[in-house]
Amino acid sequence: MKLILSSVVNGCRLGKLTEVGRNGTKTIDFPGCLLYTRTGSAPHLTHDTLHLIEKVPEPVQLTLPTLAEHHEVLEAYKEGIGKFIGMPDSLLYCSLHDAASPCPSGYNTNKTVSVWGGGGRIELTVSKFMEIQQAFKPDWYQCMADGELLPPGTSRKRAKKSVDRTLAFLDGCLEMHKKSEVLKNTEIIGVVEGGDVLEERLRSVRETIKRPVGGFLLDGFHGDDVPNDFKLSLLSSVTAELPEEKPRMIHGIGKPDEVLECVTRGVDLFEGFFPYKMTEQGRALSFNFKYKMDPETEVLEKTSNGDNEVGSKGVPSEVNETPFTIDLKREKFRADFSPLVEDCQCYCCKNHTRAYIYHLLVTNELLAGVLLMIHNLQHYFGFFQSIRDALRDNKMQQLKELITKQKS
Ligand SMILES: [Zn+2]
Repeated sequence: MKLILSSVVNGCRLGKLTEVGRNGTKTIDFPGCLLYTRTGSAPHLTHDTLHLIEKVPEPVQLTLPTLAEHHEVLEAYKEGIGKFIGMPDSLLYCSLHDAASPCPSGYNTNKTVSVWGGGGRIELTVSKFMEIQQAFKPDWYQCMADGELLPPGTSRKRAKKSVDRTLAFLDGCLEMHKKSEVLKNTEIIGVVEGGDVLEERLRSVRETIKRPVGGFLLDGFHGDDVPNDFKLSLLSSVTAELPEEKPRMIHGIGKPDEVLECVTRGVDLFEGFFPYKMTEQGRALSFNFKYKMDPETEVLEKTSNGDNEVGSKGVPSEVNETPFTIDLKREKFRADFSPLVEDCQCYCCKNHTRAYIYHLLVTNELLAGVLLMIHNLQHYFGFFQSIRDALRDNKMQQLKELITKQKS
């Protein structure tokens, strides 16, 4: 795997990873996001409907909690998860957690990490975790880590424990990884932990970079109160220590403004759970990322897409508090015959109206999820393309201003 940096402007990295994957044939552009999957498929979509979407990223994220219960089947199958799920040519990254499902805390120990699958808690030891990776045969996998989200004000002792455990898991996994014939061409992604404690974060980075990892996962920077200035400066301190030539991923960050804050601090790759999370709430991504647009059209776009009024009757206020989206369950869309987003080239917007999606949602038709997912994914992938374009055109500031304006 080779990392080619085209430019670094104000901390943002624009570039390509080449010769990626078990066969060394794939390329990944960054900043970028992954195609999010549960139980090995993009939620709501079949392979045919997935193909209707433009700019689908090369890397696919497998979420271990949604698959771990089936690892014995995969072991018996022997040919790896890519072929099993019908994505033999995709670049597969296996994450330890699923950002779209909450993971209860308090279950990790010095020897185990717990994840939650459909059938409940799954306790992983290093050897069980590695058995799963050997059955899956992904291209990249996140190393087992004590990645519990530590609340602000957590003691240094707890943060230290999380770093110690994570390093011990990494050493354990690396030892088994080295001996494994089937994981010979697979990269292990080292995890940086340490909560909000700068010293522990730095120790975590400095120790992890000494090990033969293919890239880094910056874990535990999300949460309700982020990105606040403190976490962002912590993130800067961490990325400043990382070697330039390896990719940096982050978990749990999906909102457009938060993505841009992280890109500015040197993060390359993001999970793609945000479009799915919005789909589950009956929401369509509607934010404008066309930084090249003249100011007049921009104002018009914003007026027609904005949906930030809070607390309509009968709808939980929480549902209405997501900027960057429109809530298609609202009465006002019942007879709105415009597309989800004007000028959107996705299959849903070219063929259907907001009123139709409203109708599908209120009648609980499964097609609502399919159509919203098609639009939300295409919109989100377009956003990442616009980040790369903006970096190339030296227009990141314009993009940032445009996104920030739509935050509330
Ligand atoms: Zn669309």
